[in-house]
This record gives sequence, structure tokens and C-alpha cells, in this order.
Amino acid sequence: MSGKSSRIPKFYRFPPEERLRIVAEFAGLGGEEVELLKKTGGLGLDIADRMIENVIGTFQLPLGIAVNFLINGKDYLIPMAIEEPSVVAAASNAAKMAREGGGIRTQSTSPIMIGQIQLLGVKDPYSARFEILEAKKEILEKANECDPVLVRLGGGAKDLEARVVESRVGVMLVVHLLVDVKDAMGANAVNTMAEAVAPRLASIAGGRFRLRIISNLADRRIVRAKVRIPPKAVGGTEVAEGIVEAWAFADADPYRAATHNKGIMNGVDAVVIATGNDWRAVEAGAHAYAARTGRYKPLSRWEIDGEGYLVGTLEMPLAVGIVGGATRTNPLARISLKILGVKTARELAEVIGAVGLVQNLAALRALAAEGIQAGHMSLHAKNIAVMAGAVGDEIDRVAEILVKERKIRVDRAKEVLEELRQRRGNA
Ligand code: NAD
Repeated sequence: MSGKSSRIPKFYRFPPEERLRIVAEFAGLGGEEVELLKKTGGLGLDIADRMIENVIGTFQLPLGIAVNFLINGKDYLIPMAIEEPSVVAAASNAAKMAREGGGIRTQSTSPIMIGQIQLLGVKDPYSARFEILEAKKEILEKANECDPVLVRLGGGAKDLEARVVESRVGVMLVVHLLVDVKDAMGANAVNTMAEAVAPRLASIAGGRFRLRIISNLADRRIVRAKVRIPPKAVGGTEVAEGIVEAWAFADADPYRAATHNKGIMNGVDAVVIATGNDWRAVEAGAHAYAARTGRYKPLSRWEIDGEGYLVGTLEMPLAVGIVGGATRTNPLARISLKILGVKTARELAEVIGAVGLVQNLAALRALAAEGIQAGHMSLHAKNIAVMAGAVGDEIDRVAEILVKERKIRVDRAKEVLEELRQRRGNA
């Protein structure tokens, strides 16, 4: 534990260099790491060329730091890579509210991922299921031979399941290999194991195998987060009740639930991306989990408890790693992990769950109170000013006028910019 506080008032008012100095001190970043963050293009072309195919450049996103996070009694600064205005500010703001209730508490299951092996042409699938489950020890041993490193760390294939699934091409037997992937996201590890055991499974079942691949519905790798906040921290009892009403809307209506969950994923994805993790995998898992009852539901719940406190809980799968994939190859991802100071993939997943819950609180609070646009306006107006051609201090001047007029449009921004330049030309 760093013993340092992430509660940094007016962090947003500092210039970027000063913010970086504060973060470097908090996280103990070295000179080289600071330099890498300072220069645009921290991910060099040589590394990028080794990460994917046909590279012609690198594509950047802003990296912001959300402050005020207190999770399980420990202070965290949260690196967020995201293009959308307001997300980082909203996370910091809502984390401050959560702090007034003692911060965010989290829990998680072991990092168990599922590898699926599809078996076809099995005449007696229920009998085959029995035989496969009986051969569990042999199958798990075969799978574990693929990854001695993981096994040495206490991970590896732990269990076997088999499901008989009706499909458009007939009955199939779907075998699940349950693998504890420890600190990895796990897709490569699990896919290798699934491929290794498929021929033996097919032979036991008296059929043939087709797909051998991880499932992104990582419902054995769950994170839970909880906040309990005094109503005055969110703006009073009426706002707290408004948040519960907003949640009830999402719970009752998939059209709203999709947007509710998008607000959660604003926070989740930003940290997933900053740490070099696979955000498509996390997204796929989140939405599949949200729809697991057959109806798409919000990933969080909001209630008022017996003492009038606002209580929010979130539960979702989070398949993220601190080793493997791009988490180590991308130097910026390594720095993000250092800023977070997480020691295990579970701790990272729990932090991400906490960010998702708090991001949800920020959105619901704004929606239930002043409406979402008020917070979005000023940054959005700055973007519009840039689109209209404003540079330097013109950006803030033009944005200010657009917000005041409540006309955040490029055509109006162009007029305002022209007027401003004329006035300056005359002065
Ligand atoms: P990986 O294979 O790069 O690293 C995992 C390996 O690292 C383990 O198998 C183990 O041998 C080793 N290891 C060392 N220390 C470890 C520790 N403490 N804990 C766990 N393992 C440790 O990566 P991965 O996590 O298996 O795969 C992730 C990558 O797979 C991501 O880049 C993802 O985009 C990609 N991918 C995803 C999908 C999907 O989600 N459907 C499919 C294919 C590939």
C-alpha cells in the first residue's frame, strides 16, 4: 500500500506537466517512464509492427487520470484512455461521492475461463457426456501439459463440463474446459488447451470436433463492487431517489438498459484500454452476461437502504490480465499498470469493476439531477470550436460563447470565431 491519498482537490486545474509530476510521485514512475508519457507516440513503430500486421503508424488516445478512488481502503489513481469528454471528470467526481460513504468495496471469483470444444456426429450424446466426464482426470492432465508455467503458478485446467446442445445442424455435445488463468486474460492459454484435448474428446464421444475456442461469456470470472453513500453526497434524498428510479427504468426496459450499461462501459473500457487489455472481449462478456436471463438487464442495481443511504452494486465478468497479450508489449500499458499499482489480475479486475460502478453513479446522478448535457457542454463546445478552426486561446473563448448561447454548433462556432478575429484585428 502506498499510504498516499488519491484525493487530489482541483487536479483538473493543474497543467498536464504538473499532473504528470503528481502521478509520477504517487506511483514512483522513473524518468524514462515520465519521458515516454510526455512524448506523443510512446508506442514506437517498431513495437507496433510486432504487435499487429500491416502497420503504417500508431493511433493515439488521450490518457487521463481519475482521482479520488478509495477501493477496499486503498487509494488508487486510475489511468483512463478514452476519446469521450467528461468521462474522466465524472469518474473523479463520483469517486469523491463514494469516498464520503467509505469508498468502494469489491470482491471477485477466481479467474476461471471457459474453453469450448464442439463435438458433432455423436450418436448417443448423453452416454458420451457420461464417458467424457469419467475421463476428466486424463483430459485435465492433457490440457495442463500445454502450459507448465501456468500450472506451476497454481493455475491450469481445473474442471470439465459437458452440455448437450440442440442446434440447426443437429444435436452437438459441447465440452467446457474450466481453466484458472491466474494473472492472464487467458485466451491464448485456453485456446491452446482446447485444441490439445479436442481429438481425445472426439474419440471418447465417437464423433468429430469442430470449434475449439475460449468463451467470452466469462461467467465464472465475476467481479462485484458496492458503494453505500449518504444521500447528501449525491445532492440529497430526492436525487438519490431519482437514481433508483433511473435504475428501475433500465431494469424494466432494454432500450434504457443498453444506455445504462454503456455508461458503465465508459469507465470499464477506458481502464481496459489503458492497461493494454482486450476491450472487445470485455464488452462481449459484459453484454452476454447482461442478457443471461434471456432478457437484457442493467449490470448494476441501485437501492435505498433502511438508513436512507444510496446503495449501488455491480456484478459483471471481467477477463483482464496483467501478463500476456499487449499488457507487457505496449510500454504505455505497463506504465498504466504501474500507476494503478495492482499486483494481480484479480485486483485489476476489481478496480475496473469499481470504476464501472462509480461511472454509472456519475451518469445516473447527472441524469436524475441537472441532465447530462450540462456536464458535457463545455468540453463538447471546445471540440466544436476546434472543428470550426479555432486555435490556441481562441478555443476557450469560442467555446465559452457557444455554451452561454446554448448553441453548440459548428456553423455558429465559425461565426463567433470570425467575429473574435475581427475584433482582435481591430484592437
Ligand atoms: P499470453 O498467451 O500472451 O500469456 C499467457 C501465458 O503467460 C500463460 O499461458 C502462462 O504460460 C504465462 N504466464 C506467465 N506468468 C503468468 C501469470 N502470473 N499468470 C498467468 N499466466 C502467466 O496471453 P493470454 O492471456 O493467454 O491471451 C490474451 C490474448 O489473447 C489477448 O491479446 C487477446 O486479445 C487474445 N485473444 C482473445 C480471444 C477472445 O477473447 N475470443 C481469442 C484469441 C486471442
